[in-house]
Amino acid sequence: MSRIILTGRRRDPVSFARSHIQRSLPMDLSRHSIQYLKGVGPARAKLFENLGVRTVEDLLYLFPNRYEDRSKLTPVARLLPGEWQTTTGEILAKGGRRTFYNKKHVFEVEVGDETGRVKCVWFNQPWLENYIHVGDEVVLHGRVELFKERLQLVAPEYEIIAPQDQRLSMGRIVPIYPLTKGMGQRYLRKLMALALELHAADLVEVIPSDILERQGLEPVNRCISQLHFPDTEQAQDAADRRVSFEEFFFFQICVILRRMSMAKTQGFAHKIPRDLEERFKAGFPFALTPAQQKAMVQIREDMAAPRPMLRLLQGDVGCGKTVVALFGCCVARGNGKQSAIMAPTEILARQHFMTLSGYLAGPAFNKARIALLDSTLKKNDRKAVHDAVSRGEVDIVVGTHALIESEVVFKDLAYVVIDEQHKFGVKQRALLSSKGKNPDVLVMTATPIPRSLCLTLYGDLDVSVIGEKPAGRGEIKTYHCVGEQAEGVYRRVAEWVGKGTQAYIVYPIIEESEKADLKAAVDMYEHFRKNEFKDFRVGLVHGRMPREEARTVMDKFQAHAIDILVTTTVLEVGIDVPGANVMVIEHAERFGLSQLHQLRGRIGRGAKNAVCILLGDPRTEDGKKRIEAVVGTTDGFRIAEYDLEIRGPGQYFGRHQHGLNELKVVNPLTHIHVLEAARQEAVALVKADPLLKRNKLVRETIHQRYPEYLERVLAG
Ligand code: ADP
Ligand code: MG
Repeated sequence: MSRIILTGRRRDPVSFARSHIQRSLPMDLSRHSIQYLKGVGPARAKLFENLGVRTVEDLLYLFPNRYEDRSKLTPVARLLPGEWQTTTGEILAKGGRRTFYNKKHVFEVEVGDETGRVKCVWFNQPWLENYIHVGDEVVLHGRVELFKERLQLVAPEYEIIAPQDQRLSMGRIVPIYPLTKGMGQRYLRKLMALALELHAADLVEVIPSDILERQGLEPVNRCISQLHFPDTEQAQDAADRRVSFEEFFFFQICVILRRMSMAKTQGFAHKIPRDLEERFKAGFPFALTPAQQKAMVQIREDMAAPRPMLRLLQGDVGCGKTVVALFGCCVARGNGKQSAIMAPTEILARQHFMTLSGYLAGPAFNKARIALLDSTLKKNDRKAVHDAVSRGEVDIVVGTHALIESEVVFKDLAYVVIDEQHKFGVKQRALLSSKGKNPDVLVMTATPIPRSLCLTLYGDLDVSVIGEKPAGRGEIKTYHCVGEQAEGVYRRVAEWVGKGTQAYIVYPIIEESEKADLKAAVDMYEHFRKNEFKDFRVGLVHGRMPREEARTVMDKFQAHAIDILVTTTVLEVGIDVPGANVMVIEHAERFGLSQLHQLRGRIGRGAKNAVCILLGDPRTEDGKKRIEAVVGTTDGFRIAEYDLEIRGPGQYFGRHQHGLNELKVVNPLTHIHVLEAARQEAVALVKADPLLKRNKLVRETIHQRYPEYLERVLAG
């Protein structure tokens, strides 16, 4: 999240200094290598590179991941199972051993303060034995669990506190930084304190002063200091507000400028016969919903216009986005142009391909030729597709990331669809578009975005929303059952399946405990086959299976040659099996809210009613709230809003989603209203000064932070 200069472009020091005459020759921290700081030699500098830090400015913008309020640590006696807590104490005993049957290394210590004792365990980190010693003072942060009637911390983060570290690391709000191997918290804290002391005053104020004043924002040097070593929670909050504002303000200016330049870009103006929509609709066995029709009209207008379309199609799972997207293929086909549809997984790409194949006979498709391109294709087959695409013998290509490989060359690509767009990076999306001459682009997402955030995040996109499901869909009833009720749940599932429906049983797999999770899914599959579901055809699919095998299982399930599918979250995106109307989600408390909703979207896709059972024992308040929310509504937008409430926007969106890839500040979405304010200020500034002639410092800053934007946009 530090500010790295992405191209060779540097600030022009002369104009930079000139724009800053009010300051007495500030030191340009962006050119000041961290090696000049005491305590950083070449070896440490290399480590810092892993964190994206090269200059003193980068260092000052390396913000903490989180903070610990060590002015109020939890005494050992007050630790509570199920909570994430921070405590401190002295190491009273330690011991390392290997477990008997799988030879895993276990390191255990006993930590005590004046109120009590607690055990901590770490797995597979044998070096800890040489690092942690009896008598050390430690701070521990982790999840408290109850094990054999005793409290313990499992693999907590730890920090050994030496007396000389007291000032920065104890008795105050302490920053916890992202680290790289070979670098410790205490070292980084000390270095940061030094850098701030020497250079905070040299930080350049890049936000125009009238905006600072209007928005009540702190000046940059005070704010950066408070972000690292906050005096109070409020001070940290104000500082966070400012950096969020700052980053978003500049990002928004880019977005606005890009949108302005798009309006001037020459794309292809498709000719669209008046009756195309009617012909298109006639190709489906169902009537399009009003929302689908509206989106279709918007796409039609965009594609007919000479500027390239850049449109986001938003709609809950199962609302029928694909059909709408296909309309664009017909438009392109009618103009003798090619279309590409890119999906994040092979399963999904194949499904689009099958759906599409089914509709191709429709009159609007005008005998379009289609091809599937993914990495499971044999070399020769792949080559054949590449050749056909480059010769223009294929009109619509459906595929995965395989579409953006350099060997894929289109004869004349004019329409691009990106499904589940947040699963792709900005670069990947741009790569596909660059295979045509400013093609029309439709990006789709099933992660609903509350309206309040949509404009802010997607300022450079037009948005279509499909807010309603097709009529005649069955209802989905959702229930929560605790683990003890599992037997009964399985019995009910057997009854339902006996009456002809198909069912999913979903297991969580999370990275940290991947192996154990996978084992649970596989074991339960074996168990079900021999016990509860021995009268049925049971299948298993998970992400670690060979692709061919997973595909065969999915095909069988689709064809109802499998009744019950035991699966992990590979299921999440896109699968469409209308006969599957029962879903059991095991350990539901371990899934995120949106994830639960996405999973549930796999059932209730036909006319029959569906049942979703969340099985699990939520131990935290948030866990309980998540389950309540999913039981309470099937409306994706409501779920998204709950999710925002429960987790806060930063976590909800994650750093990698929604075009936020370009943003580098820790948590750019902490305060939605800050983003809105930043957007308003950005709009006003660009309106008053579209080429940033009067706002030189703003222009400089964008040059430095987002060079690729400005080169394209302000080139003229
Ligand atoms: P999404 O991509 O939005 O999750 P899909 O486009 O895959 O949804 O559509 C889900 C299912 O609904 C598909 O089987 C599709 O054929 C069907 N469908 C789409 N539009 C309609 C409609 N207007 N009426 C009935 N069924 C529809
Ligand atoms: Mg879809």
